Amino acid sequence: MTRDQIRGYLEFYRDLGFESVYTRSSSSGAAAVTPAFEPIVTPALPSSRLASPLLPSLAPEGDTLADIRADIGDCTRCRLSEARHSIVFGSGNENARLVFVGEGPGADEDEQGLPFIGRAGQLLTQMIDNTASKEGIPIRRPDVYICNVVKCRPPENRTPLPDEMQTCGQFLFRQLVTLNPKAICALGSTAMKALLNTKEGITKSRGRWHKWRDIPVMITYHPSYLLRQYNQQARREAWEDLKTLLHFVYD
Ligand code: URA
Repeated sequence: MTRDQIRGYLEFYRDLGFESVYTRSSSSGAAAVTPAFEPIVTPALPSSRLASPLLPSLAPEGDTLADIRADIGDCTRCRLSEARHSIVFGSGNENARLVFVGEGPGADEDEQGLPFIGRAGQLLTQMIDNTASKEGIPIRRPDVYICNVVKCRPPENRTPLPDEMQTCGQFLFRQLVTLNPKAICALGSTAMKALLNTKEGITKSRGRWHKWRDIPVMITYHPSYLLRQYNQQARREAWEDLKTLLHFVYD
């Protein structure tokens, strides 16, 4: 197996949430554990995106959003199912060129089964609609697709735990493979960690391009953070990030 093939397989398992791989030691024959691997730097990924022979598919052939939703079913795979009211799968244009990924549903989203419809969602709508309008880009929120890392509301809106992100992440990854957008916007550090497995902080990563498999990812602040923050600087930065993103996708 070539180095590139090995890297492709490691990325595949990393995307599925595996943090360690096991190799057989040639001297003793016993299984040895490699340390959790560092995020794999992706600049050398082939540009042929999903057709790449190096990247095994994360999704069954011909997967659709409806199939993914059906596979989620009335999910009880993790503890988040215990208190949830609705599974918040995602909403928007299924042919969208741009996908936003948030953290997980809040109270309003849990009640109505739709992502980003509470206060943070209203701010996200404004950010998308106003930035697009100011920049002369003819799209509005219904033209993009919006989903979350976890599909059930964490109690008290706490941050999803790593095992919850791993369990639900497989469905997020299938959504992204199926949607195959031109770019993804990760809103906040949970989405950033789910997609990039990075240890960097959001302040350092935001505003820059990264990649999930072969899809460009822009990181920006979560709208809830912008609502809490009186920091005008953070808001200005988020608007800048969105401008860069929208021009990249729609110009
Ligand atoms: N915050 C999120 O991350 N997602 C939502 O759907 C709502 C609030």
